[in-house]
Amino acid sequence: MYKSIIIGTGPAGLTAAIYLARANMNPLIIEGPEPGGQLTTTTEVENFPGFPDGIMGPELMANMRKQAERFGAEFKTGWVNKVDTSKRPFTLQVEGHGELQAETLIISTGASAKYMGIPGERDNVGRGVSTCATCDGFFFREKKIIVVGGGDSAMEEANFLTRFASEVVLVHRRDELRASKIMQDRARENPKISWQLNKTPVEVDAGPLGVTALKVRNNETGEDETIETNGLFVAIGHTPNTKFLEGQLETDETGYIVVKPGTTETNVPGIFACGDVQDHKYRQAITAAGSGCMAALDCEKFLEGSMVHDWSQTL
Ligand code: NAP
Repeated sequence: MYKSIIIGTGPAGLTAAIYLARANMNPLIIEGPEPGGQLTTTTEVENFPGFPDGIMGPELMANMRKQAERFGAEFKTGWVNKVDTSKRPFTLQVEGHGELQAETLIISTGASAKYMGIPGERDNVGRGVSTCATCDGFFFREKKIIVVGGGDSAMEEANFLTRFASEVVLVHRRDELRASKIMQDRARENPKISWQLNKTPVEVDAGPLGVTALKVRNNETGEDETIETNGLFVAIGHTPNTKFLEGQLETDETGYIVVKPGTTETNVPGIFACGDVQDHKYRQAITAAGSGCMAALDCEKFLEGSMVHDWSQTL
C-alpha cells in the first residue's frame, strides 16, 4: 500500500515525485511507454528557466528523475491497464507488477501530439520535424517552414513561426479550414504565410542534414507535388492519455481531465491531475512542472486530512 502513486514521468509527474519524496511520502512513480514524456523527443530546450545555455530535453528529464530518486522516490516500469477509482485505497493493475494500491493518485500521463503517419515523418522528429512551434521555432531563423493542419493550432503555430521563418507554407488536406474565423483571418493577413490547400501530405523527404521537402498529393489533379522546406511542423492536434481511466474521472469532450479551477483536484477526492493531461492550453514543460508541484501539495494536504473537498459546489 502506497500513500501516493504517480502515473507518468514527464515534467509534471517528476516534479510531483520530487516534492512528495522530499516530504517523506515515499511515492511510487509508474513509468509508461514514453519515459520522460514529450521532452525526450525534442532536442535542445532553451526556455526552461535555470539553463542559460539550454539543455537537451532527454538530459533535463534524466536530471529530474535523478532528483526524485535522490529523495527516495521509487520507480516501476509498466503499462497501467486498469484503475479502480470507485473506493479508497485506489487499485491499479500494472503490467508486470500485478495489483498495486494507493491512498492517493496523481495522474500525469500527458498528451501525445498526433502525427500524420506518413513515411519519413517519425524518423525525422528532431531533424526538422516538430510538433511544437514554441519549443523549436527558434531553430528555424530565416528558414522556410511548412505547417500542416487546418485547425486553430495550425493557424497559431503558423503565425508564431513567422517571427523566425523567412516563409511559412500552410498545407491542409482540404480546401476548407476547421479553424475559427478570427484565427484564420489572422493567418490570412500575415504576408509571410502562403497556402497550399486541398493537398494531402504523403511523404517527408530528408537528407543527411534533416528534412528537405514534403511530398503532397494535389487532391484536384491527383498528381504528387514536392514542396521544399527546412522544417515541418505537424499541428493536427493532441490526444490526452486518459484512455486507461475508462471514463472513471470527469473529462471534457476531448478527453482532458477536468480539474477544479486553480487546483489539481479531479472530481474524485484523493485523485489529482497535473500537466498536459489536464491542460490543452499552455502545454509547456514549465507549466506542467508547476502543476506537478501543485498536485504534490494538494495530495499532502489531502492526506493530512486538511483538504475540504467541495467539488459539487464548484460545478
Ligand atoms: P483540430 O481542431 O482537431 O484540427 C486538426 C486539423 O488537423 C484539422 O484541420 C484536420 O483536418 C487536420 N488533420 C487531422 N489529422 C490529419 C492527418 N492525418 N493529416 C493531415 N491533416 C490532419 O485540432 P487543433 O487545431 O489542435 O485544435 C484542438 C482544439 O483546441 C480546438 O477546439 C481548437 O479550437 C483549440 N485551440 C484553440 C486555440 C486558440 O484559440 N488560441 C489554439 C489552439 C487550439 P480536417 O479539417 O480535414 O479534419
